[in-house]
Amino acid sequence: MARISPTLDAACAHAHAALTTSAFLRRELRTGEAVDEAPVTAADDAWMDEALIEAQEAAASGDVPVGCVIVNSDGHIIGRGHNERELARDPTAHAEMIAIRQAARAFPSWRLSDTTVYVTLEPCVMCAGALVHARVARVVYGCADPKAGAIDTMFGIGVDETRLNHRFEVTRGIREAECRSSLQRFFSELRRKSVKEGEGV
Ligand SMILES: [Zn+2]
Repeated sequence: MARISPTLDAACAHAHAALTTSAFLRRELRTGEAVDEAPVTAADDAWMDEALIEAQEAAASGDVPVGCVIVNSDGHIIGRGHNERELARDPTAHAEMIAIRQAARAFPSWRLSDTTVYVTLEPCVMCAGALVHARVARVVYGCADPKAGAIDTMFGIGVDETRLNHRFEVTRGIREAECRSSLQRFFSELRRKSVKEGEGV
């Protein structure tokens, strides 16, 4: 059972009041429509730090380092998870899916209204779909996924997909460099190992 950490309570006590105004930028969607970016809160960095800690745990078991935490409107983590595809031999064991399930158990309802999801990598089709189903209010991600990102890169699920019954606010690029470099380190280590194994044959 993954731990639910209350360690950021203090950091968040003043965080959800303190909205910085700097990130209210206009952004053009894939459809050409212009929207306001969701504002960045003072605690976004700190929550993404928790998601990065989760990502490291994924790498420890040989899984691609992606981590996720879900925070309620009182500033408490109610769900957290990291990618466990290899560990659990489960193609659906993405960080967001694990965190969503844990959060729904901790929440009064399966509708995770007023929650914010922090994830180190742009969600895929499955996870973006699950975030729509879960009715989350806001998604904050670290780096975009050029091959499978389903919120901005490949699709606009939860953002500009008007055929779905729910949309969420999105904040992009929080701790982007660290989120990206943890993935790059993992894949370069994987390549190094496979070259080494090849040399041994
Ligand atoms: Zn996913």
